[in-house]
Amino acid sequence: MKNINFVSKQPDIKLSIFAVMTQLANEHGAINLSQGFPDFDCDEKLTDLVTKYMKKGHNQYAPMPGVPELREALSAKIRSLYQHKYDHEKEITITAGATQALFTAFTAIINPGDEVIVMEPWYDAYIPMIEYNGGIPVYIPLSFPDFKINWSAVKDSVNKRTKAVILNSPHNPSGSLLSENDIDKLNEIVKDTNIMIICDEVYEHITFDKKQHNSLSRFPELAARSMVINSFGKTYHTTGWKIGYCAAPEYLTNEFRKAHQFMVFAANTPIQYAYAEFLENRDIYGKLNHFYQKKRDKFRTALKSSRFKVLPCSGTYFQLLDYSDISSEKDMDFAVRLIKENKIASVPVSVFYKNRDNNRVLRFCFAKQDHILEEAADILCRI
Ligand code: PMP
Ligand code: GLN
Repeated sequence: MKNINFVSKQPDIKLSIFAVMTQLANEHGAINLSQGFPDFDCDEKLTDLVTKYMKKGHNQYAPMPGVPELREALSAKIRSLYQHKYDHEKEITITAGATQALFTAFTAIINPGDEVIVMEPWYDAYIPMIEYNGGIPVYIPLSFPDFKINWSAVKDSVNKRTKAVILNSPHNPSGSLLSENDIDKLNEIVKDTNIMIICDEVYEHITFDKKQHNSLSRFPELAARSMVINSFGKTYHTTGWKIGYCAAPEYLTNEFRKAHQFMVFAANTPIQYAYAEFLENRDIYGKLNHFYQKKRDKFRTALKSSRFKVLPCSGTYFQLLDYSDISSEKDMDFAVRLIKENKIASVPVSVFYKNRDNNRVLRFCFAKQDHILEEAADILCRI
């Protein structure tokens, strides 16, 4: 059969680094600390709830914005955590994961030629999502090694084409958090403009050393121009279920839903009911920071005698390790060698920079069972 003469509209899009590294890890039988997902199961009560709602017959399309019980439960949760009341009817939309929510948010607001300010390193999906919509990413490098936002660079980059800023806190891959000072600086920059904010807060409950998560929902002036994106995957160890949500003021939610209805229409029905009921137990998300802090500390402590420099980590389930004392190889080459020779997989951080800047840093996911973290640290200490 002869193919048509097809010209790709996305010649620069490559397979996501998470798929690449996981595939390599599997091929070489390596411990996979690359892609971010837990290697332990979710709470059995949650799977029982999904079964319960399936057996009760909740197996057809959910309402387009999401099951009302779940939106109500989220509205109450956000109100109690961040003192902001989103109207569950008009301001919360349930999505097929944060990834869909992010794509929908960009699609709803970006016109061709609009600029979107993005911090580098970024979460891998943001740039393609902006570009598929004809937007132009404007890159602001975070400082190294503490990954702070350079607000004067942000301010200088603002012009009449600036449509939005995409923020991510807790930040993947660096583990840094938005501070109250960051919030003030952001407010100063956007206050007399029409700039919108998309804030990706999927690691909301994973912050360490008693540091609090500064959700944009907490700050009324910012919440009024923000789409706050979240996911249940990280909070409930259910990354494979792909349910997330967008909380935004009514005028933005209206636009969000116009795109959402034609992207997926609605997300998985029984899982939404199950989360709605499970959300009543505040202890589960309330203790998640403690659960992951123990894992972070175990991994960091076990690396004390290694030649890697352990960078600060205030949130997420990722730990950055600087290998500049070990090798001058590029991070991709070094990461591939670690998989093949040492049987441990990580993510090279340069892929999250426009110019593939090479700080000689790898990202390791510590959402793993303790014995796996010990085994991984043992390997790393021998390198
Ligand atoms: N944003 C960030 C920062 C992430 O790390 C991830 C992936 N874990 C997502 C969004 C995507 O979340 P989901 O799996 O719910 O689509
Ligand atoms: N968010 C996860 C990570 O950062 C991966 C999600 C994915 O595989 N797309 O590793």
